[in-house]
Amino acid sequence: MNWRTLPKVELHLHVDTSLSYAGVSELDASVTAADYQRDFAGPAHCDDLADFLSHVPPILNLLQTERGLQVMIEDMFRQLATDGVVYAELRFAPFQHLRGGLAPRDVVRIVEAATQRAVADSGIESRLILCSLRHFDPDQSMQTVELVNEFKGSTVVGYDLAGDEAGFPLERHLESFRYAQAHHISITSHAGEACGASSVWETLDALHPPRIGHGVRAIEDPALIQRLKHDHIHLEMCPTCNVQLNVFPSYAAHPINQLYREGLSLGISTDNRTLTPITMTGEYERLATTFGWTNREFLQCALYALDAAFLPDTLKTRLRERIIAGH
Ligand SMILES: [Zn+2]
Repeated sequence: MNWRTLPKVELHLHVDTSLSYAGVSELDASVTAADYQRDFAGPAHCDDLADFLSHVPPILNLLQTERGLQVMIEDMFRQLATDGVVYAELRFAPFQHLRGGLAPRDVVRIVEAATQRAVADSGIESRLILCSLRHFDPDQSMQTVELVNEFKGSTVVGYDLAGDEAGFPLERHLESFRYAQAHHISITSHAGEACGASSVWETLDALHPPRIGHGVRAIEDPALIQRLKHDHIHLEMCPTCNVQLNVFPSYAAHPINQLYREGLSLGISTDNRTLTPITMTGEYERLATTFGWTNREFLQCALYALDAAFLPDTLKTRLRERIIAGH
């Protein structure tokens, strides 16, 4: 079965850790394929999320200039096209791209303009989510969510909290989420990846997000599964990345199939494509091989993800027709 051509929706994709070797070469021609594997791609197995995050800096070093950020988007869209993605939400933290002298607002302006151009050129729909990170100070979170508000009406549509969930508490960033709520900004948040079901409960109760990044450790708590179902919370799932980060010992041990059979709304994403060597097509192949998933499950997950997308209904309707026609 060729899963590549199925129309896909990817909601959880860190664009600042997704440069392919071709993208890296455009920015630094001296990097060989072997260098890329050694210095940029993540190890097959990490101890935990903190270990994984320690491999991020080399790729970020290339993304500190206007040109670096433009190539980041152009390279991303080439990968999305190859992968059959028809709608992608790309996320990044503006404060990670300031070392070349850009201000956070410049970073967003450059990435936003590049995204608009790429959408027009490729026919792939896309929106941007600005991230704060757990270890950032609360003021950086506030500035990040204020940028989402400032860029309203552009492709910038959402706010997310990512980073080391085990090392830094959520409460430092609550004010930024209160701002998001007051300004009708769409939110999602990482939870239930490095930490257990309690982190999902905490995130649901404190932030009331319509979506959770990962959330997979909900499998540890049947009451939480019921809560997610009852409140129609969508889970952005990235199975290969979870296994790489040692959240589960193997792909077969990942609870995505079980949570899907429970009737939860969930979608499939890669999380990132530099540190985690996976594509959406590759993820589909693994789901098919490991759990026997077919067009039926892939269509349902794409539609769940589209329903949860930060998009106006008119655009969702158009994309829904395209996705159904492609299955
Ligand atoms: Zn993530």
